Amino acid sequence: MSKRPLVVENILPDENINILVVGAHPADAFDDIGGTLAHHAARGDHITALILTHGARVHDVVLTDEVGQRERAPTREELEPIIEERTSVKHQEVLEACQILGFSDLRFLTYDDSVLTLKEELMQRIAKVIREVQPHLLITHYPLESGGIASHHAITGQLVLNAVGSASRVSPEDPNPPWGVPEVYFKAIHTALARPDVLSHATAGFANVYVDVTDVIELLVKALDKMKSQQYNGAWARKSREVYEGVFGLNVGVAYAEAFIRLRAQVCDYLPLSHYAMARANELEATEHRRQNLLVCHTVPE
Ligand SMILES: [Zn+2]
Repeated sequence: MSKRPLVVENILPDENINILVVGAHPADAFDDIGGTLAHHAARGDHITALILTHGARVHDVVLTDEVGQRERAPTREELEPIIEERTSVKHQEVLEACQILGFSDLRFLTYDDSVLTLKEELMQRIAKVIREVQPHLLITHYPLESGGIASHHAITGQLVLNAVGSASRVSPEDPNPPWGVPEVYFKAIHTALARPDVLSHATAGFANVYVDVTDVIELLVKALDKMKSQQYNGAWARKSREVYEGVFGLNVGVAYAEAFIRLRAQVCDYLPLSHYAMARANELEATEHRRQNLLVCHTVPE
């Protein structure tokens, strides 16, 4: 019998896997999970991001900070070409950001971003992508974010859960066979940053998986720097990483981390024991502080 390692990691299969990210808005293809995706891309895993809305009216420097400030709102005829133009700008920015992180398979459904509701048609479109891509891991928004009400992110999470169920069944409209998704993870960014409203407070959720992204934090800043259309570049790219990944990092004893909520309970042959837990259990506080003291907010963009 071969000698078993002391530390049994919660590791992936040896072969490469497929990952599907389903986001509400273009930047959700990588925002808050980009370090984790960069790790998987470097490992050779295939990443696909499916984006539901064009996001041009949610945040866009032209539509929100310029057109939206006019005394009279533009007519439909005036507005539609602007939305179209800003949508293509966003798509290009997201593509460039994701390429920095190591993937470029992006699918845009470009639904309108005014109101996102639970539409059967949208669930079926997501299910179709699941049957085609055959993801082993699926990452989406937490379905109870902001109370699960009137939030594009929460509705996306709910659409995806419905689509996961639908994708596992044969469809007369789809030549691809059914696909059951082995693992679903939700972005847990809101758990650290629950908005100060009663709905968010009640359903913040609990982040139960963290990924140390310290080694790729500069890549995340560079990726976010691409999102000029929504003013995520420059100081915001640094400040937001310092706060978001920084808070999660402090939670678990590393400099920067991304947090997830795992949908299903884990089934293993052994109890998981990570090398992080082993290293941290008996270390000096000084060692922990040295590891956590990195400050990406001081870095200057290229
Ligand atoms: Zn979003």
